[in-house]
Amino acid sequence: MFRIEQPTNFPIGTMNSYLFLEPEPVLIDCSVNTDEALSSLVSGLSSHGLTPKDLTKIIITHAHSDHMGLLGRLGEHTEAEIWVTPIARPWATNYQALWRQRSDLVARTMRLGGIPEAGIERAVHFTRDVIPSFWSAADPARLVDFPIDGVLEFGGHQWQVIYTPGHASSHTCFYQPDQKIMLSADTLFPRIPLPLIEEWPHDPAARMPGLPHLVRTLKTLQGFDFSVAYPGHGPPLNNPRVVIAEQLIRIERRRKQCLELVAGGRHTVFEVIQELYGHILQRDPYTAFCLTLGYLDLLEEARLVEKRLVDGVWWYFNSPEKKKM
Ligand SMILES: [Zn+2]
Repeated sequence: MFRIEQPTNFPIGTMNSYLFLEPEPVLIDCSVNTDEALSSLVSGLSSHGLTPKDLTKIIITHAHSDHMGLLGRLGEHTEAEIWVTPIARPWATNYQALWRQRSDLVARTMRLGGIPEAGIERAVHFTRDVIPSFWSAADPARLVDFPIDGVLEFGGHQWQVIYTPGHASSHTCFYQPDQKIMLSADTLFPRIPLPLIEEWPHDPAARMPGLPHLVRTLKTLQGFDFSVAYPGHGPPLNNPRVVIAEQLIRIERRRKQCLELVAGGRHTVFEVIQELYGHILQRDPYTAFCLTLGYLDLLEEARLVEKRLVDGVWWYFNSPEKKKM
């Protein structure tokens, strides 16, 4: 298995495609739709004596621009089948309408969080205009569905597909038990993966609470025996169990901090952000919002806080029964 790094045009830096040569050339994920990403991929393939034409399958871990934005453009250079889950499939062909819909969800949610309009406008611009500009629609005739809990065959092995929502509602990891390796895409990093504002595939009007799902996903991954994780960005993680344990500790610490802020009189997402992520709020209100809402979602799910709608904005209060404890 070989890693082919490509630029993404996002702060995360490069992304990783993984190339399997035998028994047939298969690629996992591809980057954004840019000249630079395409030429990095083409030169990565050529260092193994391949061109895009030689690929037989491209398998997608999740529906994000830096994992499938290049698909349509790449399709002009290859006949490869494109394997996607039923959740990611609509994003391969209909991404513009779906990003408009998601952008509306982001705006609605940030408004409920009490974020000033200027910050909302930036997030809307990013999700409605910037991200789709790095995407290209794939040919529907090339798409092949694989189930989110199925088995894939590539690289001469069988890989268990694990549905791992949290960072994305479409996220899957691929696990190979004989080699004890996990293609973990955007679920495991040295830092906490961003729990993005995304809708549930079965209910586009409802938001997936990202961080509660990420915590469950991390606990699910703890149930698998693997010694190396290959992430969607950055080098392989040779201590994935330690990374997972540290993430869970870090999330718990932040969750506690967030609860104290609510107890101390910070009631809206925006008020909590200013304390927790004031340093990134100006630069990146969307990221700061996704993280903070994630911790409040965790507290709400654990019934440590209650949420009430006050003049169109969510207000969080410590749950009275928990206070007595
Ligand atoms: Zn992602």
